[in-house]
Amino acid sequence: MPQLDLQAKLAILADAAKYDASCASSGSVKRDSKGGQGVGSTDRGMGICHAYAPDGRCISLLKILLTNSCILDCAYCINRKSSNVRRARFTTEEVVRLTLAFYKRNYIEGLFLSSGIIRSSSYTMEQIVEVARSLREDHDFRGYIHLKTIPDADPELVRQAGLYADRVSINVELPTETGLAKLAPEKDAAQIAGAMRDMKASIAEAGDAAKRFKSAPKFAPAGQSTQMIVGADAASDREIVGKASTLYDRFGLRRVYYSAFSPIPDASAVLSLKRPPLMREHRIYQADWLMRFYGFAPHEVQSATDEHGMLPLDIDPKLAWALKFRDSFPVDVNRAPKEMLLRVPGLGTKAVDRIIASRRWRRLRLGDVARLTVSIAKVRPFIATADWQPTLLTDRTDLRTLVAPRRQQLELFAA
Ligand code: SF4
Repeated sequence: MPQLDLQAKLAILADAAKYDASCASSGSVKRDSKGGQGVGSTDRGMGICHAYAPDGRCISLLKILLTNSCILDCAYCINRKSSNVRRARFTTEEVVRLTLAFYKRNYIEGLFLSSGIIRSSSYTMEQIVEVARSLREDHDFRGYIHLKTIPDADPELVRQAGLYADRVSINVELPTETGLAKLAPEKDAAQIAGAMRDMKASIAEAGDAAKRFKSAPKFAPAGQSTQMIVGADAASDREIVGKASTLYDRFGLRRVYYSAFSPIPDASAVLSLKRPPLMREHRIYQADWLMRFYGFAPHEVQSATDEHGMLPLDIDPKLAWALKFRDSFPVDVNRAPKEMLLRVPGLGTKAVDRIIASRRWRRLRLGDVARLTVSIAKVRPFIATADWQPTLLTDRTDLRTLVAPRRQQLELFAA
């Protein structure tokens, strides 16, 4: 590997990390720097990713790889052994130094660290853990740390990662075992599942200990997450939704992130060269939200897919579900339970809470609902109010055209 300065390494290893989507740092408890000597310039933008917490707070992380060299050859990965990319490797001290420098200059609130497999999984994990250890123990770093863990690394090293990190993640990579066997034959789906199960057990154990002893050590307090690549294999949206729901149920994941596959230079011949539409990733995220926040069972979300198991791209999955199950509508906003209100296309969780709070005092009219929503035109066919009853709308064959968002002509010379 050629000798590179820190700046050149940062350019290579930040760029290499951008393919990993699993780094939003939602759900963490803010570390308190009171009583300690906690330490928040380089070229701003290089390696800094912005992630959004559920409360809408935008946080910035230094998102880098320890190295983009890897002994494995996963077909979808730009860093795979057979790829022709420029390689670089940070030392653990360099990552620590960079993180502290960025943090002190208020460029970042934390670190997301992943790596190609250097010599062996355990050796790589040891290096990743050493960065986190040094930040926490040698430098009293109170910022956010997200570490990528490696399923077949020594379990003791993975446990140590959980002790230093706020969040840990293990990528399932592909939604089906067939896809994994074809595109990443050196990875083992059962081993990945086992590592997630162990992580869940360690997080639960630490949670129990924290309830009993104030001094119990924290263990990945922001939980574990994973990433699935969308569109690199033949998996349908139905399969992706099914896989995500299994992961949430079995391993208590905080988040499943979806990353639309982007064709890479010198791609392996087994890969599709076609980039899936970005809207597909967006629709899968919306389907994920329906399961997590709108009370939809996985099979209900899956029933919004077409005969090929794909979600429509032109309308959101909630609207697709409502159009398929029209006999569930109209929903009476003055009497319906919360779970039915959440199924109305165009009504978000906040609007539903406001409807429930307002209807305690008076019967709501269409105008009242209009004030709580972005588009009453989308909501109107699916609700009944004190002054509105859509008698025939749900039977109309042109309902989809009426409620689907209109296509917009992009302006050629728009700024
Ligand atoms: S192990 Fe990770 S870094 Fe290595 S080729 Fe596979 S996906 Fe890429």
